[in-house]
Amino acid sequence: MIGLVDVNNFYVSCERVFNPALEGKPIGVMSNNDGCVIARSAEMKAMEIPMGTPSFQLEGLRRRGEIHLLSSNYELYGDMSARLAQLLRDSCPEVAPYSIDEMFIYLDGFNDAQCQTLGEVLRRRIRRYLGLPVCVGLAPTHTLAKLANHAAKKQSHYQGVCLLTANSPTTAALLKQLPVSDVWGVGRRIAERLAVSGIHTAWELRACDPKQLRKRFSVVLARTALELGGTPCLEMNALEQPRQRIMTSRSFGKATSLKADLHAALRRHAQRSAEKLRQQKSLTRAVLLFLTTNRHRKDQPQLSPSAMIPLTSPSDDTRIILEAVREGLEQMYRPGFKFVKAGVMLLDLVDAQQYQLSLLQSSTKAHPHLMNTIDTINKRMGQGTIRFGMTDAEAPWQLRCAHRSNRYTTCWDELMEAGTHPGAIAAARVKHEQQRLARAQHWVQSRV
Ligand SMILES: [Mg+2]
Repeated sequence: MIGLVDVNNFYVSCERVFNPALEGKPIGVMSNNDGCVIARSAEMKAMEIPMGTPSFQLEGLRRRGEIHLLSSNYELYGDMSARLAQLLRDSCPEVAPYSIDEMFIYLDGFNDAQCQTLGEVLRRRIRRYLGLPVCVGLAPTHTLAKLANHAAKKQSHYQGVCLLTANSPTTAALLKQLPVSDVWGVGRRIAERLAVSGIHTAWELRACDPKQLRKRFSVVLARTALELGGTPCLEMNALEQPRQRIMTSRSFGKATSLKADLHAALRRHAQRSAEKLRQQKSLTRAVLLFLTTNRHRKDQPQLSPSAMIPLTSPSDDTRIILEAVREGLEQMYRPGFKFVKAGVMLLDLVDAQQYQLSLLQSSTKAHPHLMNTIDTINKRMGQGTIRFGMTDAEAPWQLRCAHRSNRYTTCWDELMEAGTHPGAIAAARVKHEQQRLARAQHWVQSRV
């Protein structure tokens, strides 16, 4: 069985963990520099405020207290995502992050009842330990797990956990209702062509002859049909990328603990991701990096660090993404661990054409032709013909984030404060600051 664990309204839910007063209220999370809405709570969706609405248009609603707008707190979201992955690794044989808030779990050898129980346990545990609401979809294939997750989210009687077997009447009923365009990996264009052949629902696609599908459409569509029937044949990496993120990850030929090796791998993935980004004419708002050690080597210390780096403004510039990679690696690298896999995820994508560059932001797009030229040469002469060398320009970014919540889980200065006398808190802060200075001085002295 394959499970898909997906956090409901991830960014908003992270905010609510540390500010329960936001529960049940319409919340919007804004992009970097507080430009537009990139995540909405269910209540805000119900008000029909669309994704991408510029923040200034909502200023009136915000001032009247009808909605809450928060600056994005990527450090918090990245850390909560890492905690979710860790919790799942502690409870499941194998875990693969698919996006910042979606993780696949692989449950080989579990029977259906055990999977169902584990799903319920995980859901409760994630709520209790992390404060996050999730839905769990369980099924024999990735494609059906995605569908099961969707059902768990939309149909309240599942109570957040839905298990679908290949041949149950429930699966058949769901597939009969599902338009083929909503099946994972079926794009709008293919859906239109399928409609011409009289295939409108997922159920009708499942009934098609895979050989015919491969001949007339593509091997991916043939496999999708098989997956709908319960035969696993799609690797996670072959699945269609959600429009909101691009991931490039790969296992190393040989485990390495060298920072230079890891940097090289991450840089390669970042350059590939940036190419895909430009191909689909998107810009990214944040870069998520991760490394993994070999979990099968019980004799070696295990670590799966990740780092989330928000960009000052949305970008498709490889140089800016590489700078984020450099910064992220600094944050997550620990010597002494043998890593076997590295990945780069570009998150919260925005349509490059719709994104209007303001005067302030135009400086980051100074060389659109440079990126085009590099892509063209690499296409003609082979992947990686032109690559970027080391860049170590330290760009001290100053993001505008007037409404950002504290970085509760990653910053000593921004921890949650229990109700103590304000004077005591101030005194504790002064003491903490003094200790920090003393540590810094000690560090400097020990190196002089
Ligand atoms: Mg989600």
